[in-house]
Amino acid sequence: MTHVDTLVVGAGISGLVVARLLHRAGQRVVVLEARDRVGGRVWTMRTADGILDVGASWIHGTDDNPLADAVHAFGMRTVEFTVGSYQPDGRPIAYYSPTGTRLSDESAAQFGADVHHFDELFAATVAKSSPGTSFGDAVEATLTQLDWTIDRLERVREFLGHRAEEQLGVGKDLLDAHGLDDDAIEGDEVVFPDGYDELAVRLAVGLDVRLEHVVRQVRWGRDGVRVDTGSWGFSAERAVVTVPIGVLKSPTFTVEPPLPEPVSGALERLEMNAFEKVFLRFPTKFWDENVYAVRQQGEAGRWWHSWYDVTMPQGRPTLLTFAAGTCAQQTRHWSDARIADSVLEALRGLYGDRVVAPDRVYVTRWQDDPFSYGSYSYMTVGSRTRDHDDLATPIGDVLHLAGEATWTDDPATVTAALKSGHRAAERILGRSIPFGDIWSPTKR
Ligand SMILES: Cc1cc2nc3c(=O)[nH]c(=O)nc-3n(C[C@H](O)[C@H](O)[C@H](O)COP(=O)(O)OP(=O)(O)OC[C@H]3O[C@@H](n4cnc5c(N)ncnc54)[C@H](O)[C@@H]3O)c2cc1C
Repeated sequence: MTHVDTLVVGAGISGLVVARLLHRAGQRVVVLEARDRVGGRVWTMRTADGILDVGASWIHGTDDNPLADAVHAFGMRTVEFTVGSYQPDGRPIAYYSPTGTRLSDESAAQFGADVHHFDELFAATVAKSSPGTSFGDAVEATLTQLDWTIDRLERVREFLGHRAEEQLGVGKDLLDAHGLDDDAIEGDEVVFPDGYDELAVRLAVGLDVRLEHVVRQVRWGRDGVRVDTGSWGFSAERAVVTVPIGVLKSPTFTVEPPLPEPVSGALERLEMNAFEKVFLRFPTKFWDENVYAVRQQGEAGRWWHSWYDVTMPQGRPTLLTFAAGTCAQQTRHWSDARIADSVLEALRGLYGDRVVAPDRVYVTRWQDDPFSYGSYSYMTVGSRTRDHDDLATPIGDVLHLAGEATWTDDPATVTAALKSGHRAAERILGRSIPFGDIWSPTKR
């Protein structure tokens, strides 16, 4: 039995940050990670064919963001790509009408203005909504305040539905009205031409990370914690559990005694989403030049409605689209080829015979990943904003939860993971810690 000061379960960004800060403070720390790599949902596929960020891609807003500071301090290259938060405008986007004709710049600008006007009213609707109101209900209540044509209302209605799906991987009627309260971004968004995983690799330097250690049970009590990984036993004064909520809810991972309130109630109300990436790389570019994204309006865009031109960061003509919410659930058991055919058919509605066959298709399978069971968390109808923070309530001062789902301000992001790991370290050490300690070299 190995005994240390703190055991960290999971070597994603939250786990690596808390481990790094505690190690820096002189603690003996072991990180137990189920996979054969660090980074968790920050995962860069590296093949002879190039790299793909198949987990997180973006920093959603670099202003006043310690994640951006960390990335800068580690010298990681970034490329501006401010289209990762389902913005209606701000950067060039080629909009296509329900019948497949490209909107003029004026029409696209009018549509963007409509969404912004709607958003202002929507914020007020959400603020006064009663508990148990869904995002979809709040959208409908807001639309009734607008004296617009049916078509104009419909374009905004569908956009808000796609926003819920693309931002949180869930249909608007299953998401709480407050589910996107913290979605505003500050500053530019950036992506990583050399791969996001460099962040995890840099954070792990100097740490005792045990890969391929699948934790099955965490037992906690007044005298500390014991963690069972099947073949190895570990004990510690305390543990920080950073596994995704999909794992926390699964029968393959148990906590003994069971998590108490308010942690258990918060866990029940938060859910893991259905959200997959579909990358299509082509021998040549056939879509609009000088746009960040292409969007299809109307029924034709029910599933595949947004394509992101990631040619610049990828270095080859590549489109990224998302299967989100119902689309992700319904295509879950489809082959990559079938999914690609479905996406290509939608693209042909815009570009006809100009669409060429892709030479590489990659579809993520996060819903089936046993160390995640989905991509990230969302608030079910009836959940409360504070459920995120409640999930991280220290238990008996020996058990702490961290991870994207435990951070209220901007959950479901890498920033949230980083900040939650930092908060867990502050709680354990009982003092405030400058964010800069995350990226300064470890002392030992
Ligand atoms: C497809 C996709 C796209 C995304 N896009 C973005 C984006 O563009 N920008 C953004 O900011 N965020 C994005 N996110 C979300 C972001 O990746 C996560 O919020 C963040 O990486 C979560 O970090 P974490 O430390 O909380 O969890 P994780 O990274 O999941 O770390 C938890 C670790 O625990 C390990 N683990 C699980 N079970 C066990 C077990 N039984 N025993 C031991 N270890 C275990 C896991 O393997 C994992 O390494 C995306 C996520 C996905 C999947």
